Amino acid sequence: MNRRRFLLSLPPSMLAPAAFAAESAPRFPRASPVPGGVAKIRLGAGGPAPRVRLGAERVLVVREGGEWIALVGIALATKPGSTLRVEAERADGGLERYEVAVAPKTYASQHLKVRPGQVELSAEDLARYQRERAHLAKVIRTFSDAAPSTLAMLQPAPGRRSASFGLRRFFNGEARNPHNGMDIAAPVGTAVLAALAGRVIDVGDYFLPGRTIVLDHGAGLLSLYAHLSAIDASLTQNVAAGAPIGSVGATGRVTGPHLHYSVYLNTAAVDPALFLPA
Ligand SMILES: [Zn+2]
Repeated sequence: MNRRRFLLSLPPSMLAPAAFAAESAPRFPRASPVPGGVAKIRLGAGGPAPRVRLGAERVLVVREGGEWIALVGIALATKPGSTLRVEAERADGGLERYEVAVAPKTYASQHLKVRPGQVELSAEDLARYQRERAHLAKVIRTFSDAAPSTLAMLQPAPGRRSASFGLRRFFNGEARNPHNGMDIAAPVGTAVLAALAGRVIDVGDYFLPGRTIVLDHGAGLLSLYAHLSAIDASLTQNVAAGAPIGSVGATGRVTGPHLHYSVYLNTAAVDPALFLPA
């Protein structure tokens, strides 16, 4: 049986009837169907959790306000105005299709003029960067079945949060990858805490992000902490929300000490601010 449903991307207040909001529905992440945001799709109340996919990637499904909700991470590279097609498979094999209209969002641009040659990597560094990028892409594709019990994250270090998620950077007019996380300014040595309970799925010292740790919170929700001076958790270790996992540093390619904090949903880096109290 194929049913087709259409979902308009509306703010959650318009999407949700009053009764829905009045129940003990988690407020996080806030819905924001834009590139780098999260779309919430209501899947109905009945049956066991449907299996949801966006293309080849599994999507996080949670029980919220007495209903199944899919939380779809929207990649920063997604074109505003485009449509994401999401498929939900019921336990009885029934397939439902949903569409998410991606709303526009303009992220700031930063143009930097640098001496030619200053941003070019040596052949050796380039090979290392590419190897590490492939490794991290594989880590980010981790999907473990148990969904997280809560989605409200703790700020992983005290300090001023940048609003630079999505910032489009240009060096001498040439586009670089947009900034895919939040930077938190803090002195070297400040404790970095797990934003949510999870399992350590990667620990490394990489060319660009420096000392880095990645946590799997379940069902495609991951968090990544970079530029650390020290890492205090080991691979496969389970950590509680708020547990110390390392210290703020300035490792990798940085201009000063800070914590780079990224959140991934179905492999898409999404704005960590959507998971944090304002
Ligand atoms: Zn950063």
